[in-house]
Amino acid sequence: MKWKGKRASTNVDDARGRRTVAGTAGAGALLNFVGRRFGIKGILVMIVLGVVLWKAGLVDPAQIVGGQTQTQSTPYQASPEEQELFDFVTVVLGYTENVWHAEFARHNQTYEEPTLVIYTQQHPTACGTGSAKMGPFYCPGDRKVYIDLSFYEELERSFDAPGDFAQAYVIAHEVGHHVQNLLGTSDKVHARRGRPDYNEYSVRLELQADFYAGVWAHHNRAYLDRGDIEEAMRAANAIGDDAIQTRTQGKIVPHSFTHGTSEQRMRWFNKGLESGRVEDGDTFSMSYSQL
Ligand SMILES: [Zn+2]
Repeated sequence: MKWKGKRASTNVDDARGRRTVAGTAGAGALLNFVGRRFGIKGILVMIVLGVVLWKAGLVDPAQIVGGQTQTQSTPYQASPEEQELFDFVTVVLGYTENVWHAEFARHNQTYEEPTLVIYTQQHPTACGTGSAKMGPFYCPGDRKVYIDLSFYEELERSFDAPGDFAQAYVIAHEVGHHVQNLLGTSDKVHARRGRPDYNEYSVRLELQADFYAGVWAHHNRAYLDRGDIEEAMRAANAIGDDAIQTRTQGKIVPHSFTHGTSEQRMRWFNKGLESGRVEDGDTFSMSYSQL
């Protein structure tokens, strides 16, 4: 993908080397107070309440334990390769801004740009603590995309999906979730959490994000090198639920799919690539078996 010398997005938060730690003084004082006032039962109630709120995604464990959090910044030294990757994703984010501003304008709507947080190891988010193990993700609560760049090594080695366009596709997919958030689609799906058909809706949401990544690729055709589309398809193929489950469990359990099969993900990416129009990506109206 051609990117050197292109506009880098300014909506990037470089959080590499920044660590947020829970302050233990706050926890000690709070436990002491509750213990004196309400005894051991009070402390137990507090712990149970904390766990319930945490499970419900309402609070971050660091907030329960610490009461206050501290941010520690250590000087971060990136290798030249990592810095190049960093610069690359900031340009990719800029490309997504160009495309989505134009697509929203075509529907007389205004696109609000998300922030990309590039962190190392762990980072607090409005959706709980983000960790590198989770891979890249979008948090609707703070409208930010989170990525630890080490994921790209995993994509290349474990998932056998190398190449800069595979890396760009990952960002474009997460920005696709941001588009869904702006259009109100994510809310409708999250409202179904806990219902038996929630997984189906989650698959519909994921395939639509792949479609949106395809729409983005459609409008960036001028920047593509030979083999780029194959790289993105390879990534979509490698990170399908069936492929991941086969790797991790040795078998495929369709009802637990939350992202869609490799074939579905490649197909919806391709649909977006051909169409280039946001309105052609309705993954919610058709029956689930036809997705
Ligand atoms: Zn996704």
